[in-house]
Amino acid sequence: MTDTTLVARWVRPSIRSLAAYHVPDASGLVKLDAMENPYHWPPELVDAWLETLRNVALNRYPDPRSPQLIDTLRRVAGIPADQSVILGNGSDELIQVIIMALAGPGRVVMSVEPSFVMYRMIAGYADMDYVGVPLGEGFALDREAFIAAMQAHEPAVVFLAYPNNPTGNRFAREDMEAVIEAAPGLVVVDEAYAPFADDSFLGDLGRYPNLVVMRTVSKQGLAGLRLGYLCGPRAWLEQFDKLRLPYNINVLTQASAAFALDHHTVLDEQAAAIRRDRESLMQALAEMPGVIPYPSEANFILCRVPAGQGDRVFEGLKSRGVLIKNLSPQGGPLTDCLRVTVGRPDENERFLAALGSVLGQ
Ligand code: PMP
Repeated sequence: MTDTTLVARWVRPSIRSLAAYHVPDASGLVKLDAMENPYHWPPELVDAWLETLRNVALNRYPDPRSPQLIDTLRRVAGIPADQSVILGNGSDELIQVIIMALAGPGRVVMSVEPSFVMYRMIAGYADMDYVGVPLGEGFALDREAFIAAMQAHEPAVVFLAYPNNPTGNRFAREDMEAVIEAAPGLVVVDEAYAPFADDSFLGDLGRYPNLVVMRTVSKQGLAGLRLGYLCGPRAWLEQFDKLRLPYNINVLTQASAAFALDHHTVLDEQAAAIRRDRESLMQALAEMPGVIPYPSEANFILCRVPAGQGDRVFEGLKSRGVLIKNLSPQGGPLTDCLRVTVGRPDENERFLAALGSVLGQ
């Protein structure tokens, strides 16, 4: 028997038919495709961090409960004291843990469409059905359609990114609350972009028995550490904690994230600069002929380019040294849409100059 026949026999068809998550090669390009914070730390802070790492015992397993890091997160993020917290190797891993706990034949994961692709992908890993309810006008959450879909499909879990990726907007709070109240199962409010947004559901934990809030330090400037956190009622989190691998947060991440969050004013200032630069970028995009930027409370902007030009503009930017995300191939409401991460001012200038040149061709 050849290896391919063995694979065909044993790997589930639903896995064989998946496409792997693709990360494009950004070498040599201005990297504005992945919602990273473009800034590092001042040199004196880097020195202090390296000094902290001297005391990290690499020969020992990490503390599986990460108590020091959880305390720091509680304090810095303002997590209500009566809520539980578990950590993930990025929030991607938390999505996986939640889905594993709720998976079962015929069970449904629901979100809006378009939204963060990992909800759909991880539902597929667990052979769950995925239902994406189309967003309404201006990428608003269509409350009636969403509630009707929940009645029809009884989702075990609903993921709502607040603000949403890739659209960048934050849904109306009343619509979110109506969905949480009507949901038959768990609602995960994914606040990956909280550092750039004007509202949060952290303060609403405890008001609803089916609400948990997921966050990440990735967009805050610590994407390389891989750290996400889930906050919510103990009854849910103690179940999810059983599926979390015991040593999922390594010693370097535990020490580095606790250090970084103890110095969060540096990260906060960076987020404030990104928010300011987002507004300048938004204005500059709105002045470009034929370009429609959508309102954003995240560290990226979704924009629509003239009809039929999505792929050409994306390739033209790349050939001019700028990598952003082309959403046009996803079609539907994202046809001719591109997503650009807010970079440093010089990177944003490079992007705008390249875009002007491509559109002028
Ligand atoms: N949620 C949303 C809405 C995201 O856009 C992303 C990353 N693009 C994530 C979660 C995953 O973040 P992490 O780096 O913590 O896995």
